Amino acid sequence: MNQQSNLIKSKIDELRKLLNRYNYEYYVLDRPTIEDRQFDILMRELEELEKQFPEYFSANSPTQRVGGQVNKGFVQAQHSFPMLSLSNTYSKEELLEFVNRTSQSLEGEKLEWICELKYDGVAISLLYEEGKFVRALTRGDGVSGDDVSDNIRTIKSIPLELYGENLPPRFEIRGEVIFPHKAFEEFNLKRIETGEEPFANPRNAASGSIKLLDTKEVAQRKLECFLYYIIGDGIKENLHYNRLQQARTWNFNVPKFVAIAQGVEEIMEFINYWDTQRHNLPFDIDGIVIKLNDTNQWEKLGATAKSPRWATAYKFKAEQAKSKLLEIEYQVGRTGVITPVAVFEPVKLAGTIVKRASVHNAEQIQKLDIRENDIVIVEKGGEIIPKIVGVERQNNNQDSQPIKFIENCPICNARLIKEEGEAAHYCPNYNHCPPQILGRFQHFVSKKAMNIDSLGAERIKILFSAGLIKDFSSFYTLKQDDIIGLGSLDKENKANIQEKGAKNIIQAINKSKEVEFAKVLYALGIRYVGEVTAKHLAATFKNIDTLIKATKEEFLSVEDVGERIADSLLNYFSDQDNLDLIARLKDLGLQFEIKQSQKTSEKLLGLAFVVSGTFTNFSREELKKIIEENSGKVLSGVSSKTDYLICGENTGPQKKKQAEKLGVKMIEEQDFIEKLNIGDF
Ligand code: NAD
Repeated sequence: MNQQSNLIKSKIDELRKLLNRYNYEYYVLDRPTIEDRQFDILMRELEELEKQFPEYFSANSPTQRVGGQVNKGFVQAQHSFPMLSLSNTYSKEELLEFVNRTSQSLEGEKLEWICELKYDGVAISLLYEEGKFVRALTRGDGVSGDDVSDNIRTIKSIPLELYGENLPPRFEIRGEVIFPHKAFEEFNLKRIETGEEPFANPRNAASGSIKLLDTKEVAQRKLECFLYYIIGDGIKENLHYNRLQQARTWNFNVPKFVAIAQGVEEIMEFINYWDTQRHNLPFDIDGIVIKLNDTNQWEKLGATAKSPRWATAYKFKAEQAKSKLLEIEYQVGRTGVITPVAVFEPVKLAGTIVKRASVHNAEQIQKLDIRENDIVIVEKGGEIIPKIVGVERQNNNQDSQPIKFIENCPICNARLIKEEGEAAHYCPNYNHCPPQILGRFQHFVSKKAMNIDSLGAERIKILFSAGLIKDFSSFYTLKQDDIIGLGSLDKENKANIQEKGAKNIIQAINKSKEVEFAKVLYALGIRYVGEVTAKHLAATFKNIDTLIKATKEEFLSVEDVGERIADSLLNYFSDQDNLDLIARLKDLGLQFEIKQSQKTSEKLLGLAFVVSGTFTNFSREELKKIIEENSGKVLSGVSSKTDYLICGENTGPQKKKQAEKLGVKMIEEQDFIEKLNIGDF
């Protein structure tokens, strides 16, 4: 290989590696770290290189594969037909190229196009047999997907039984699960109130929701599903448009935002209309999808490894607006991290009025060279929080000075610290800086930590201002009488915690004493110790005393723990205030060691169970716990190793079928409990 080929090969490798990482962050973690447009540019660069240098082709390249992956925790199944992505266009010229290419491939046949909205959610494929819902699969890697039937059944508009004319005996209908704006905002507000991290946008939230293992939680999220594509062997209708109309008569939620177009001009009319009107829709779209109407032409054209040749997506550009920067404000987070926020003259952007946007950190301010009175370019891509992406300096502002990042905390005035290799400045006044203290209280009571759900952000502020909480241990010495009559901060003298509310708060606090060690550790809010690290630490050290005494090497031997976390742990446990706090919490009855799973009996020893559906008296998790406490085993899918399938309402038909086939006994919740009580297994 000469030097140039070496360079090309390593560029290709680098792009593949990078894109694989972004795919993982986007599809598996639901936490993208770059803009979609940026991702698409990198993907195109790779596509171009692979086209120019076919000797470096690889079937494993991200250009050759649908981006998603399958997830642990779900049973996987194969799609009857591959579930592909779409090619992208970004301009009228690119669209014209696509249309011309299609026309050439079809040797001048007449083309009729169907224009649809491109719903920004998660793709789903629903299988129906003999008019009955059988299962729902995610796109996964395009060949197999996760069986998320239980979650999908909670979406009320998805019919479980079909009635109507011309129903094919077996078909798949595909569409997009989306989070409508209103439901998404309510849901995120609730998360903020309970101290949980809000989701960045409805797409990530929808994707995270259908991967939840708790169906009840999914049901509360008010997801919606729009359907746009029917596929199967016995479908008589040949035109895509008519298929959609027909599916609507079978009670599927097929949106009406569809148009027939005869050429690029008519397609562009639809695109331009929705590019301006999209902000009036109650859900997100990120473009327009253009499909050939005649499905016989679909057959003739086929697909690449990644997308069909008879359709493409036209992607909208992220919306931008310009406004005059008034000032940079600085926010202090729970861990003391300082986030600069640009405050500018109110401007309309993507359908809402915005006046603040994040600038991330000092480096970003420097990079953009933002100055007061500059015109800033604000962008709202997939995220809910807008950001500054550029600056225009007007003539009368040429003499302005670069913004100097603050040196002291805007709240407590402590000198800020910036550690080597870190992008953020932070306030080190851990014990006395009010927003940090409040943030820690909110984190402590949040769902994934101590789960004291009756204490939202507002109530924490009230307790704090009333001087009732000084550190975490104060929660556990609160009395009902202390909090009855405490009022909202805004409406003075208006008592808003009544006796019943106060009772609920005290009950929830007491209940939190049962919260397991890993969560208590997470609740302490040790810098860099997230939920997963806390779990690893708890599993490794078993109790707090061993953890406190651990050396740096011992910390470093724990999965996921690197220098930064190890140093933070050492630092935390070397502070006598923290050790005193832990001792107090321990005395108050919080869990500081791993509880060995307590077996109450051996009544189910040697038996394996699958639990499926929703139940009247227990959650699925509770039933599983009961099985394990009685020495039984819980399996995720029905197989020859399963002894019993415990069926609730809406148990997956696939699971039932499998159980019947393998002779696995099926019992209902009530029978299971009765048999267990009388020792009849
Ligand atoms: P896509 O979102 O570009 O388009 C294909 C999808 O559109 C289909 O799978 C389907 O789910 C959906 N769709 C919505 N409405 C539709 C309709 N009416 N008809 C047909 N399909 C419709 O492709 P993708 O494969 O889901 O995702 C790839 C894109 O995701 C990339 O182009 C990029 O923009 C983004 N991405 C971003 C990152 C990141 O890190 N920012 C990483 C990976 C992917």
